[in-house]
Amino acid sequence: MGGSQADTALSTLSFEFFPPKTPAGMSKLLDTASRLADLKPAYFSVTFGAGGSTRERTLDTVLTLMQETGIEVAPHLSCIGATTDGLREILRRYQDAGIRRLVALRGDLPSGMGDPGALRYARDLVRFIRSETGNHFHIEVAAYPEIHPQAQNARDDLANLCDKVRAGADGAITQYFYNLDAYTQLIAEVRASELDVPVTPGIMPILNHAQLARFSDSCGAEIPRWIRKRLEGLESDEQALRAFGHQVVTDLCRRLLTHGAPGLHFYTLNQAEPTLHICRELQSLTIAN
Ligand code: FAD
Repeated sequence: MGGSQADTALSTLSFEFFPPKTPAGMSKLLDTASRLADLKPAYFSVTFGAGGSTRERTLDTVLTLMQETGIEVAPHLSCIGATTDGLREILRRYQDAGIRRLVALRGDLPSGMGDPGALRYARDLVRFIRSETGNHFHIEVAAYPEIHPQAQNARDDLANLCDKVRAGADGAITQYFYNLDAYTQLIAEVRASELDVPVTPGIMPILNHAQLARFSDSCGAEIPRWIRKRLEGLESDEQALRAFGHQVVTDLCRRLLTHGAPGLHFYTLNQAEPTLHICRELQSLTIAN
């Protein structure tokens, strides 16, 4: 690790979107993407509903963003509930569309859907993608600084990440977190396992306390008590809550970059302003230093 303030300017940015459900949502997303494009991200990514629920919308959104912004776009792909024929078909369509980057996940089985499908874990999906398409795709996988909620223990979760890399992943993007130490510990453990892939922190801007608390409960990300308590106290003042959230997340990003994070991957929630605000402030800190 190591690094300096100057790393902020050099870092690789990527921005994650979800596929909109309506034409109005798509036009709002294009506006968001064109504003974020000013930050010259390495790529955008578009989520995929586990079980294939957004299969067509993910592809349409990827193609529209590529066409309208000229920026590389990485579809997410999850294997839970999928058949190998179905996955093969999606990979073929992605290849035909000129897509070169994927985020490969297991996903979570939607409630009421009993069949986990042909491939049980993301590691199996990475292996499948490599066996079907060789080195065509750059593959990112998910990593969990605060441990995936279904992992038996931290050691098994780390072993799973290492397995995904050995199966052919080129890098990992983390679940969001607000504890810097959880990230630096994960990086130390990955390096001790002699794996040299970039592990990019996933960044969730803080915009709304109830929504963040709900997300965090379901994905196992911790909101530290000092942040939670302040957010609770600011619930009736949206402007003050957003200002506090901005300060917390910008400071986390600054410290991550100082600790040598290879880039920042923003969970944008299809909104430009919170992410732009954080990135502009990081840039101004760099210039000031
Ligand atoms: P895996 O790496 O397969 O791990 C899942 C669990 O299984 C872990 O607890 C792991 O420790 C355990 N495990 C692995 N192998 C074994 C084994 N052999 N035996 C026992 N246990 C094992 N979800 C979506 O639906 N769509 C998206 O677009 C999406 N994008 C995401 C992007 C990022 C950057 C991140 C961090 C998450 C994303 N998710 C998405 C959420 C993700 O699908 C869930 O977190 C899911 O629960 C796990 O997916 P995974 O790829 O990490 O699974």
